[in-house]
Amino acid sequence: MTDSPATALVLFSGGQDSTTILAWALARYARVETVGFDYGQRHAVELLAREAVRARLIATFPDWAARLGEDHMIDIRAFGAIGETAMTTARAIEADARGLPNTFVPGRNLVFLTYAAALADRRGATHLVGGMCETDFSGYPDCRRDTLDALETALRLGLARELVIDTPLMRLTKAQTWALAKGLGGEALVEIILEDSHTCYLGDRGRRWPWGHGCGACPACELRAKGFAAWDAEGRPALAAA
Ligand code: ZN
Repeated sequence: MTDSPATALVLFSGGQDSTTILAWALARYARVETVGFDYGQRHAVELLAREAVRARLIATFPDWAARLGEDHMIDIRAFGAIGETAMTTARAIEADARGLPNTFVPGRNLVFLTYAAALADRRGATHLVGGMCETDFSGYPDCRRDTLDALETALRLGLARELVIDTPLMRLTKAQTWALAKGLGGEALVEIILEDSHTCYLGDRGRRWPWGHGCGACPACELRAKGFAAWDAEGRPALAAA
């Protein structure tokens, strides 16, 4: 059922969105590798979630296990130090003058994708897959498709090679992201996302809610809970990948 003989590199944080796009890539590309970024996250729990999700996908989906290649981790702590926001220091989550939550690390996705493109060049990958989404989100300017179109052009020119930035979640609501996961891997994949993926900004895994683990109060937990509740109320439909 693979559509493309290409190799894809998935930006994989171990969260709900990136687990869904990893499944999307595994259903589509002949070979898939993952890359994560250590930019001084407050919580190693995110890094542990990456390992847990990859292991569960391999154990549960033999077809995908055959295509899932290496995992890469890139240290960009020097960049994280510039960002110095609520993601990496103990400050409260609040909005700045642009109306952006201070969980926003300025230009984070530009940096992630540029590092990923350099790695893709070395690994022979032609597709970068990211979970950026402009719907139902906090308005991060580097998540917009316009931004990514411009970056895709810059990377193609700057690396002198074919490169596509896939963003399968770009136009989906959070409820539709759950539906896409079900369409890709059924309730087995939904269960992996619920149990093993990690989204909470505070790194809290102490409590298990219907939508997964988290503090239940931070913006990331609220978004995940709201999307799950909407999808559940619709009768947990499955959405076919576009
Ligand atoms: Zn939380």
